[in-house]
Amino acid sequence: MSKKIYIGTDSGATTTKFSAVWENGEAISTKLLQRPTSSEKGRAAVINGWIDGIGEFLAQNNLQWSQVHGVGLAIPGPYERYGVFGKTPNLPASFSGWDVYSDYSAALAKQAGRPLPLVVGNDGNYGGVAEARLARGNTKASVMMLMPGSGLGAAFVGTDGLALEGDTIAGMEAGHMPAALHLLGTTGKPFPCGCGRDWGCVEAYTTISGLPHLLVEKLLKYPDHELAKSAAPIKEKVLSLRSRAQKGDALAVEIFDFQARVMGLHVANLVMALDPGIVVIGGGLMDHEVTTPEFRERYLRIVRETATPYLWPQQRDTIKIIPAELGDLSQAIGAALVALYQSRT
Ligand SMILES: [Zn+2]
Repeated sequence: MSKKIYIGTDSGATTTKFSAVWENGEAISTKLLQRPTSSEKGRAAVINGWIDGIGEFLAQNNLQWSQVHGVGLAIPGPYERYGVFGKTPNLPASFSGWDVYSDYSAALAKQAGRPLPLVVGNDGNYGGVAEARLARGNTKASVMMLMPGSGLGAAFVGTDGLALEGDTIAGMEAGHMPAALHLLGTTGKPFPCGCGRDWGCVEAYTTISGLPHLLVEKLLKYPDHELAKSAAPIKEKVLSLRSRAQKGDALAVEIFDFQARVMGLHVANLVMALDPGIVVIGGGLMDHEVTTPEFRERYLRIVRETATPYLWPQQRDTIKIIPAELGDLSQAIGAALVALYQSRT
């Protein structure tokens, strides 16, 4: 008999990634299959793209639709309710209120010739599910994941392997909690955040979204820096900071050290509520392809050193703060894993 598999589709506004796991949770392939989401062509085109992408993934790995026993879909929030898109600036206005769960379920049933169980969830949460499975190994540790990138993704994965979702599927939006500004020596008004809150969201101090503000502040201290004189767009300037820091540029190093301190205080804050055994840090600052081991270790060291004094003694001795392993694949694999876990209940 052919082996059962569970598919994960991770759909962003521009590209969709495809993955799958066996019944034991192992990923079928670590090769990334990625296709355009085609959201500008409307709802039907997006669904067709997902079905075609799964077909392509199956063909590449010599698998059949008959082996598929569940599908997971990772999509960015916010949601109106389970499986229904809310208003989001990253998708066409016509997607607001779209019951993607029902439409994808129908398309999957048509393609497979039988109904297939579908789970739909937040992409950051599903990424956390996949990283947590690796991080905890054979232990029952609960895992908190923080992913600084363009924004700050966050997830808490309990001992059951699933992510905390909350009653309005907005649980663990931890990037929009206030940073501990009183401990950071910042002056002036808190940085603005894309979410609209004015209390100084952690996301604005730990991710690319706030780098323009951090750079402007830092250039006051380094008026002769190359970036002070450059006429390049601010976006280009801030995206150059990661490689500058790895070459020892003092301004860039200070900026990431500051971001790491903010993250350390945030970790301590969240640990007071969640008490996880393991904290996984992901995102672009932990990307093995574009960062050096020294860069990653320096960031993690500062996170640990900043968090530790605020933890309980027992936590100081036992908590692990480690880098993520799966990179771009985590959310698609996580979606497949949630489909697998749901099939067991
Ligand atoms: Zn915010």
